[in-house]
Amino acid sequence: MWLSKKCGYVFTWRLLKDRLPTKGNLLRRNVAIQEAVCPLCGQVQEEVGHLLFNCKRTIGLWWESMRWIQAVGPLPASPASYFAQFCDGFGADINHCRWYGWWVALTSAIWQHRNLLIFQGNPFDSSKVMEETMFLVWSWLKARDKGFNTSFNHWSSNISDSFG
Ligand SMILES: [Zn+2]
Repeated sequence: MWLSKKCGYVFTWRLLKDRLPTKGNLLRRNVAIQEAVCPLCGQVQEEVGHLLFNCKRTIGLWWESMRWIQAVGPLPASPASYFAQFCDGFGADINHCRWYGWWVALTSAIWQHRNLLIFQGNPFDSSKVMEETMFLVWSWLKARDKGFNTSFNHWSSNISDSFG
């Protein structure tokens, strides 16, 4: 499953323990940085809960994902409670393993694109993040499930079926 990939596991562990090198965390470790604001919106200090879940540039990705399982509800601010609530599926009757895979894939893709912006100046494009995450999860499903032979285009246009 997803966790067997070492990097995914380490990333998720660091995320839940708030050990990712966000600007807020660098400041707390007394690392000299030029500015501490969120690189995506430039409005508040960059903390992991803001960057991945509540920033105006990323929150739409979660709203869109939640629509697939018809979930509604307020989004908690701390990554750990967010993880717990999201992976529980907001009480919806869903395939939890796949839903969890989606969470890991989306958080890592946001973090990766945030890094591409900071270190390479690539503009952050949330629709690109969404597309890449879909492709990642489709490849994962294909690799772990021999009976899975849906084409990417078909799968991604019927993605809510995947979590039901
Ligand atoms: Zn932001």
